Amino acid sequence: MDKQIPCSSPLNALFPRELEGFDMLAELALDLRWSWNHAADEIWRKLDPQLWSLTHNPWGVLQTVSREHIAKLLADPVYRTLLDTLVKTKREAAESPGWFQQTYPDSALNTVAYFSMEFMLSDALPIYSGGLGNVAGDQLKAANDLGVPVIGVGLLYQQGYFRQIIDTNGVQQAVYPYNDPGQLPISPLRHANGEWLRIKLDLPGHPIWLRAWQVQVGRTKLYLLDSNDTANYAPFRAITSELYGGSADLRLMQELVLGIGGWRLLNALGIEPEVCHLNEGHASFAILERARCFMQKTGLSFSAALVATRAGNVFTTHTAVEAGFDRFAPALIEQWLGDYANVELGISTAELLALGQEDSCHAGDDFNMAYLAIRGSGAVNGVSALHGEVSRRLFASLFPRWPLDEIPIGHVTNGVHTPSWDSAGADELWTKACGKERWLGTIDELGKSIRAVSNKELWHFRTAASQTFVTYVREHLVRQMAASGTPQPEMEEAQHLFDPHVLTLGFARRFATYKRPNLLLQDPARLLRLLTNPERPVQLILAGKAHPADSAGQALIQQWVQFIRQPQVRQHVIFLSDYDMFLSEHLVAGVDVWLNTPQRPWEASGTSGMKVLVNGGINLSELDGWWAEAYSPDIGWALGDGKEHGNDPAWDAIEAEALYDLLEQEVIPEFYQRDTQGIPVAWTTRMRESMARLTPLFSTNRVVREYTEQRYLPAAEAFRARAADNGEVAQQIANWQQALEQQWAGLRVDGFTARQEGNHYLFAANVLLNGLAPEDVNVELYANGCDGGDAIRQSMDCAYLPDDNRGAHLYRITLPALHALSQYTLRIIPSREGVSIPLEVNHILWEH
Ligand SMILES: *Cc1c(COP(=O)(O)O)cnc(C)c1O
Repeated sequence: MDKQIPCSSPLNALFPRELEGFDMLAELALDLRWSWNHAADEIWRKLDPQLWSLTHNPWGVLQTVSREHIAKLLADPVYRTLLDTLVKTKREAAESPGWFQQTYPDSALNTVAYFSMEFMLSDALPIYSGGLGNVAGDQLKAANDLGVPVIGVGLLYQQGYFRQIIDTNGVQQAVYPYNDPGQLPISPLRHANGEWLRIKLDLPGHPIWLRAWQVQVGRTKLYLLDSNDTANYAPFRAITSELYGGSADLRLMQELVLGIGGWRLLNALGIEPEVCHLNEGHASFAILERARCFMQKTGLSFSAALVATRAGNVFTTHTAVEAGFDRFAPALIEQWLGDYANVELGISTAELLALGQEDSCHAGDDFNMAYLAIRGSGAVNGVSALHGEVSRRLFASLFPRWPLDEIPIGHVTNGVHTPSWDSAGADELWTKACGKERWLGTIDELGKSIRAVSNKELWHFRTAASQTFVTYVREHLVRQMAASGTPQPEMEEAQHLFDPHVLTLGFARRFATYKRPNLLLQDPARLLRLLTNPERPVQLILAGKAHPADSAGQALIQQWVQFIRQPQVRQHVIFLSDYDMFLSEHLVAGVDVWLNTPQRPWEASGTSGMKVLVNGGINLSELDGWWAEAYSPDIGWALGDGKEHGNDPAWDAIEAEALYDLLEQEVIPEFYQRDTQGIPVAWTTRMRESMARLTPLFSTNRVVREYTEQRYLPAAEAFRARAADNGEVAQQIANWQQALEQQWAGLRVDGFTARQEGNHYLFAANVLLNGLAPEDVNVELYANGCDGGDAIRQSMDCAYLPDDNRGAHLYRITLPALHALSQYTLRIIPSREGVSIPLEVNHILWEH
């Protein structure tokens, strides 16, 4: 990078630079590597043991502890040696070549920019709500582990997502603590002369000024933008105030800041990513800005620039319902982006709108951010195999007349960053079995090593986890009770709730109705019997927030709190408030069984169940999201029949019955069935198989390698090929698209014949290409697959070329007579090497 490029200045001006060694403490505290690597924990514990155990936030500890105490510790040679060693190790880890450098030393991939509305990296940086941020944060961490050159781009929220208080009546209150940037582990991005790096968006009325921040995540970086700049029109300072709050206007402005501002920031930093990964449609405006920058560089038109740049864009959709996509009224898009389209992109407002509408003939349709993402990307995927299927249905209307299985949306099933979610005990167990470096390369052998761990060792590990868990739950509960004004006797009682020897079920997630957090409450009397069975008792831990605008979700919280208030229940069910990453870490490490009860297919993936795997927890879940592909009878339990029943109360009742049965007849007996040494052998056997088989598979290690090999590397190459020589190939493809657009309607099949000869069929067709060349199209025979099998697609050979290409071309093919003749139809689709059909060109002609 040249000298003009701004860089982050890690130290707050108020920091005691004169304190020798302090800069190293700050360097460690500002690198979120501590969120998964616990080598430095001792450093922070020594600074303030109590604050450390309460927060696990090194940056917070460092800012709170007195300077005298820091000076004293830094003067201690033992402490100082440890600090020196840790900083050295950290720097070496950042420099050493990772899996990516070793496997792809000459790759065309230098930078992937990963755009996301939220990132869940640590509670020290509360700029997330839940699942989506979890996926983003965990992938960034795994990219670090593997050396994949990913840079995150997101927003710095002044308040972020709400924090939850539940009053004694079970009513959720939303509160919004202020994220003081000075207290967050982030650094401002500044020019060399100390000036703040600011990004400007010219919008009608007022410009928006954005400030830029950097978060260090091992060797990877996350850049954040916020609009809280004094130069802004005052209401605009609130654009980046809340996550998932406010009106459609505000959401649109946030998405402009993320997409357009984010891409501009990369530009200002001199970063030119080959690949732009859009984590959900929120950041789709980056597509426009990326194309605009390419126009500026090459002089190409918007459409040719989009052809070039979209090859390098990867879109991951996370939504399983139509209503989940962000949409904006056309007037709103026109108001904020009309000038940008006309002046900067050189396209009409209608052309801009068409990028986000299902059908440009319906000019009044909302602008759908996911549609823009699909029209501006070279690859699209859902987040589990089932969600891929659901997404092909959701987006089928963008590819009219194409068979569902050819809708160009694949899947990369989510995973979790295992080192962030394993407990200290689990880390110890896995390190003994598989070594310290186990998540830094390929992970094919991990299962084998875990299978060698004995039942006794596994059970010992789980018993210790239960102890730690119960202690944590009691402490958390007492703190939360104090905050909601609980009387003293109840708080005393709380210190004795739960029992480490009792089977613990856990359910923690967003309280949304489709997740059915109240499924277990369908028959409260039966649940009560199940919990309080004197021989085989059960305890249940719950947590979760409902969006402040979701009153149905809030009512579900209240329903549980009221159930728990019964004296005979209290010992057995606890609802912990303010579900966040820190709480989640403790829950997934402590529970024996993780419950998940969504209405299929509305859980796109789900990740919380993956977090229990490394810790020896077992999943009992609806066959939805990741579990639909992970489940087998020897590794956990399944709910539902693997079919979709929508929002049907009768079906909910059936599934609730099935859930009680499963618990009573299988889960609970297996847990309490002990051998002479007190070990539940069937349980530990199931647990070991779940750990061995599923932990590696549902880790972001696997996910990031899959994205890298299947999406990033091909995308980088395709982008480079199209962008070379001022976008020469892109211009050719754009011309070709235009020719197809003009000629396609005139394409004709003039006679399609089929006859049988022995055990073969002979097909022939005369095709009038209307000025297109034979290499522009594929003429295919098509038959639906039998019994759910794959469809048959066979290209026909062009057997006769007329002198004048306006004449009929003869296509022929001979096939074994496997299906009835009537099953075959002929179709014509566009074809060009390196162009993704139907993603980039969706014409199709059927001849029946
Ligand atoms: C893992 C996690 C989530 C996402 O879990 P789901 O299974 O997708 O519901 C949400 N919030 C927090 C705090 C988490 O740790």
